Amino acid sequence: MSDEDVVTYEVVDQVARVTLNRPEYRNAQNSKMTYALDAAFQRATDDDAVKVIVLAGNGKHFCAGHDIGTPGRDVDQTFERKAVIWWDHTDKEGGDQRFARESEVYLGMCRRWREIPKPVIAQVHGACIAGGLMLAWACDFIIASDDAFFSDPVVRMGIPGVEYFAHPWVMNPRAAKEFLYSGDRFTADRALALGMVNQVVPAEELESTVSALAGRIAQMPRFGLALTKKAVNQAEDLQGMRAGMDSVFGLHHFAHAHNAETSENALGGLDAKSMAAKARENEGKEQG
Ligand code: ZN
Repeated sequence: MSDEDVVTYEVVDQVARVTLNRPEYRNAQNSKMTYALDAAFQRATDDDAVKVIVLAGNGKHFCAGHDIGTPGRDVDQTFERKAVIWWDHTDKEGGDQRFARESEVYLGMCRRWREIPKPVIAQVHGACIAGGLMLAWACDFIIASDDAFFSDPVVRMGIPGVEYFAHPWVMNPRAAKEFLYSGDRFTADRALALGMVNQVVPAEELESTVSALAGRIAQMPRFGLALTKKAVNQAEDLQGMRAGMDSVFGLHHFAHAHNAETSENALGGLDAKSMAAKARENEGKEQG
């Protein structure tokens, strides 16, 4: 493992551990990380010795979201186009560029990972924000430590939630509205009460709890697990998740376009720094 590895991979007892590894940036997800994740998931899928996959984050946090502010941010980079078939976005402008990019690296990739034919467990601690939610939600279920917190603050940018719009399905619609309208952090316990996470455990027991559960699941037959995953995913899609996400993706891109027309960029003139400042302002209001 080198410092260059933005995602690390190891297999222990039939369980592949895929770990986000940009701890200095709270595991903010850039395209390099997206494709490293995809390669790790492909490797775990191809390896018959792997029965279960765990997605975790190195450092203090699971994932602070899409990379909208580190030196490794890479909006204009050419990428492989694995999740959708489309033309190269890098020499295009406006919505032509943005729609292609987000269809591939955000919505498309999360959908592709949701369909990995092996159980995937998200092991979440610390921050799980915006793009981090997309990673955790694309997993089959979430085991959280008691210090985990969840938020989607992108309504501050005038955008109706992150690209993988699972909110009304992973929690109830009223909770989804509160989550989005307020941008508030939901604690692990709140997320548990809403059914968004499966278990909350003390931070020091997180990894061992996940490993033990993954070990039990690994005793099940590989093909049986794959069919069962498909069965539940199909039921979720029949409840409208897939079609709902497609329709919201249009609203999402309408919001980006509106921002691009009326402010300095498609994010409403905001970046990682100003988003964090606004979140702090809001927390101050909550407390006092
Ligand atoms: Zn977007």
